[in-house]
Amino acid sequence: MPAATEFDAVVIGAGVSGLYQLYKLRELGMTVRLFESGSGVGGTWYWNRYPGARFDSESWTYGYSFSKELLDEWDWEEHFSSQPENERYLNYVADKFDLRRDIQFESLVAAAHYEEDTRRWAITLEDGRRYSARFLVTAVGVLSAPTMPRIPGVDSFTGQSCHTHYWPKDPVDFAGKRVAVIGTGATGIQTITEVAKTAGHLTVFQRTAQWSAPLHNSRIEKEEMNRIRANYPEIFARCQETYGCFIHATDPRATSEVTPEEREAFWEKLYGEPGFGIWMGNFRDILVDREANALISDFIAKKIRQRVKDPATAEKLVPKNHGFGTRRVPLESGYFEVYNQPNVRLVDLNETPIERITPQGIKTSDNEYEFDIIIYATGFDAITGAFDRIDIRGADGVSLKDKWKDGPQTFLGILVDGFPNMLMVMGPHAGLGNFPRAAEYSADWVTGLIAFARERGLTRIEATAEGAGAWTDHVLETSEGLLFTEVDSWMTGINRNVEGKAVRRIMRYSGGHPRFREHCEAVVAENYRALALA
Ligand SMILES: Cc1cc2nc3c(=O)[nH]c(=O)nc-3n(C[C@H](O)[C@H](O)[C@H](O)COP(=O)(O)OP(=O)(O)OC[C@H]3O[C@@H](n4cnc5c(N)ncnc54)[C@H](O)[C@@H]3O)c2cc1C
Repeated sequence: MPAATEFDAVVIGAGVSGLYQLYKLRELGMTVRLFESGSGVGGTWYWNRYPGARFDSESWTYGYSFSKELLDEWDWEEHFSSQPENERYLNYVADKFDLRRDIQFESLVAAAHYEEDTRRWAITLEDGRRYSARFLVTAVGVLSAPTMPRIPGVDSFTGQSCHTHYWPKDPVDFAGKRVAVIGTGATGIQTITEVAKTAGHLTVFQRTAQWSAPLHNSRIEKEEMNRIRANYPEIFARCQETYGCFIHATDPRATSEVTPEEREAFWEKLYGEPGFGIWMGNFRDILVDREANALISDFIAKKIRQRVKDPATAEKLVPKNHGFGTRRVPLESGYFEVYNQPNVRLVDLNETPIERITPQGIKTSDNEYEFDIIIYATGFDAITGAFDRIDIRGADGVSLKDKWKDGPQTFLGILVDGFPNMLMVMGPHAGLGNFPRAAEYSADWVTGLIAFARERGLTRIEATAEGAGAWTDHVLETSEGLLFTEVDSWMTGINRNVEGKAVRRIMRYSGGHPRFREHCEAVVAENYRALALA
């Protein structure tokens, strides 16, 4: 067998997180190889080419903040930019910083095993090629392991089938076609709105109605872009202060502290403004207090009923099994009006479940539908899915998948005890939020730790079991009392299409990013004494 090619570090994933991590590790003078299963950079924005794919983050809060030159050069075209522009942006970054020379595309990492005698990771690609690295840095994504529904007959359909994640690079033509969309999460809502514009007939299969609110996207003209550019320092500073690194900060008032008229006016204002303000800039109690949550849910329900003409359809579109904001709020651009179109129908799978996919289309409990195209907007095995798909084994051959079978256990979402020299950028239980803001922080922290180890000739970095236990307890504590923990969603680890994902678990840190950073910085301030270093 040929000897494994050696690097100081291997990074997995060429999305926003991995690209920046590669840049930072190279700055340390390390030899780095980044493996990416796709054939281009961009991660989420490389794969998800489905019609309507775009940011719910303001574009100008999503771009990297680390390079003034990059900020000076890049003009965002829209406040909430679409997949093609986002992919272009990440390609621009890869070229500008000459990242491609260390990226190996079409390279799916199948296994990574820690070897105690050398204190290195042995990495094997799906095609059998082998590599060795002191540090294994995962940047595999939180929404990067797509799932198909567990419905019999999926392979039997003779028309065109597309999962939104694996969308073809060539545009799909819907004109005159009978199209089905299964799934109405954030992706489904974007897809449906766009496909309805040209499809001959569109049938939407909905299991869970969503509390979707308007995106209010618009173009950015040159002058406005210049103003944004001048404000970048303030914009990024504000993102650092907010709970989720968004530009929207929670309103300090409780819902009950204002009169019903003030409340209504505030919500009308938020509903009329761009972005996540209605979710992240709302009264401080809407996600913890049942009464407050019921009031905002009633407000959004009223909007849905106003926008959808047929009352029976409107009722199906108003969520009944969870309150506003307790799942990821999808932002929309005319989604509810789609159901006023004569070429669109809604099938509620709670009333008439899908029994099977047939060669011609979809059979529900009461009907057989024929289609030319079936779109699966059925989402991801979120947060731990991409890890579970790699055979990762730590010291003593312990499998990460087994270790996490009852839920993730990490130290700061970055390290795992028993898995020395493995560092996760945006791992489970790290501070989530407006992604690049949090990912830049994570990658900087990882880089700082690796630099610390290299300066001191340390070759083994590991979280302690006590440290990981304490962090896991803290993560669980911060989610106590939050209404989202009572709801099935990818944020609570539920995916009916994945074996073993039927029990609710806390998958993300709910203490907010500023608090997350305090914990991370305390560890650095004590010279990483919380870790086992050797
Ligand atoms: C449709 C959609 C819209 C989104 N919109 C927003 C938004 O508006 N704002 C926001 O903040 N976040 C959004 N997100 C979340 C989004 O995932 C992040 O913003 C960000 O792109 C994640 O970057 P990442 O580099 O961590 O992971 P990813 O972009 O997911 O990249 C991970 C990469 O790792 C690769 N990979 C994984 N496993 C392996 C392996 N075993 N071998 C080789 N390669 C591997 C994957 O192919 C992928 O390219 C959205 C997500 C989706 C799916």
